[in-house]
Amino acid sequence: MHMNKDNDNDKKIISRTLDRLYDSKSSPNHGFVCLLVLYFVTTFIVSTSANALSEITIFGHSLPVYSFAGVFSAVANICVILLAVYYDKKGFLCALVVLLVQIPMILMGVIFRGNLSSLPGLFANLFAIITIILIYKNNKKISSYQNKVRDMAVTDIMTGIPNGFACDELIRALIKKNERFANVCIDLNGFKDINDTMGFEAGNIVLIEIASRLKQIADEGTSGTLDFVGRTSGDEFSLMIRNFSSEDQLKATLEKYDAAISQKLNVYECDFFISAAFGYTIFPDDGNTVDAIVSHSNTAMNEVKRVNSSNHFLRFTGDLLSTEKTLETESKIRAAIENDTIFFMLQPQFDLSHKLRGFEALARMKDEKGKIISPGEFIPVAEKVGLIDKVDGIVYKKAGKFIGDLIKQTGSNISLSINVSVRHLMKNDFLTEIDNLLMSSGIPPAQLEIEITESVMIESINKAMSRINTIHDMGIMIAIDDFGTGYSSLSYLNEFPANLLKIDKSFIDKLNTGDKSKQYVAGIISLGHTMGFDVISEGVEEEEQVDTLREIGCDLIQGYIWGKPLLPEDAGKLVKG
Ligand code: C2E
Ligand code: CA
Ligand code: CA
Repeated sequence: MHMNKDNDNDKKIISRTLDRLYDSKSSPNHGFVCLLVLYFVTTFIVSTSANALSEITIFGHSLPVYSFAGVFSAVANICVILLAVYYDKKGFLCALVVLLVQIPMILMGVIFRGNLSSLPGLFANLFAIITIILIYKNNKKISSYQNKVRDMAVTDIMTGIPNGFACDELIRALIKKNERFANVCIDLNGFKDINDTMGFEAGNIVLIEIASRLKQIADEGTSGTLDFVGRTSGDEFSLMIRNFSSEDQLKATLEKYDAAISQKLNVYECDFFISAAFGYTIFPDDGNTVDAIVSHSNTAMNEVKRVNSSNHFLRFTGDLLSTEKTLETESKIRAAIENDTIFFMLQPQFDLSHKLRGFEALARMKDEKGKIISPGEFIPVAEKVGLIDKVDGIVYKKAGKFIGDLIKQTGSNISLSINVSVRHLMKNDFLTEIDNLLMSSGIPPAQLEIEITESVMIESINKAMSRINTIHDMGIMIAIDDFGTGYSSLSYLNEFPANLLKIDKSFIDKLNTGDKSKQYVAGIISLGHTMGFDVISEGVEEEEQVDTLREIGCDLIQGYIWGKPLLPEDAGKLVKG
């Protein structure tokens, strides 16, 4: 009983929100009082003026007082009509009572005092009564339609339980009340198979049955907590659980729902069993907006599905977000490989006389909707999940073919720099891959450069060193990328068979902020030169930076100031002049 009352309360909360949406606020109470007072005042004036014999003078004309009775009577009738229009049942009943009370009074005047002049008033009264009855009936019809529409707005038509909108509204209201609650996202396992093998209708029967089992537990309150259940979409349900004293009690409630879902289902004479994944979020600990709460519960639910263990419940934690993001990006990368939507851009590198040295190939990727995902986002994921060699491979092949053809066409001595991640570099077939690249593209080894980040020297230098030496022996150039961001030891740097040192953008950004920063970059440049490397500055955006770099002896520049990453055809134009 107690539970039903609370569910009624929930409905009121949702209903109030709908009122707000419809913007149909109830009319103010003081309006009601004013109309009633105005009615009595005008009625009193009518009854006293109707029989008055005196006259008043207006603009030199004398008028009998009783001739004003009609005006006041009209105002009085308008008051009762307004009461009926704006104050529903209360207004209607009140108007009816005051109109009905007058009838015997008028009749008594006619009978006992022979006051026939008030007879027309009686007819006016009857008309007013008919009018307010019609208004009331009409209002009732409109509000019953409105209620139907409102019910439809908060009810899931198929299962008859509240829909996602109602769930969101309840969450919003509970947040506002600052009441502790758990939001649970429930997703049925294998529901798609039921739809696929037995048809949509069977699927619908399952959803209706599951909804009724969930609703029964919520309504009966057998779980011991205060629960509200809704269907948010397809085979997803949502629970709002309140009044739990501990997480154990919350889990006990979830187990009740889980057990109800797992019970045998019978559809078209077939018995089968279904299970569900439960992800939940506790307000305020795990989220404090409707969006955060709903999406966090979803994240936790997805993790239950992914892990696919016997444990059907999981509470949201922050770690899940990065896992989820990684998974999402991973599936985008796989799709991009499959659909061939990984491509490359070419960022030019120049010497300080603004002569083109070559290009760095930078990976780009489009997701299935055609949105470009930045390499800052997908390269680290590709590295983590072991897809980087595939991504690199595509960039190498496409950029290699383009630059190889360009060199053949123009005879230019431009270089192509490609990035390699440590995990890719260490693969057994990396050297074969590079060999094949040289063969298929026709790029002379001395015009191919492999960029290896400085972090290699810290993490895997011993393993990587022999491989890097082999690459060097093949006549390919090696660049140390992002120099300055790691802490490579000078002794390793000295052994490193590099041609080029790439100073990281973060140093170039600070270059002109003070003498110290400038001296620091000058130090790197002279260190590079001592080791026998050329030095290139990355991320140069300002003329002043170019001036300083020229002054301190930098050899090359790569940055937006002289060239953003370009589409291949634009890079081609730059070479052909
Ligand atoms: P990176 O190798 O250090 O590449 C330079 C990055 O700095 C590029 O970003 C480039 O667009 C950007 N950049 C260059 N000049 C300027 C400038 O003046 N201002 C600013 N604000 N940015 C500039 P992008 O293309 O987003 O690449 C990010 C990183 O992704 C690269 O850093 C590289 O580590 C990685 N990456 C890109 N393509 C590949 C690839 O094919 N394979 C591998 N393994 N990693 C790649
Ligand atoms: Ca690079
Ligand atoms: Ca870099």
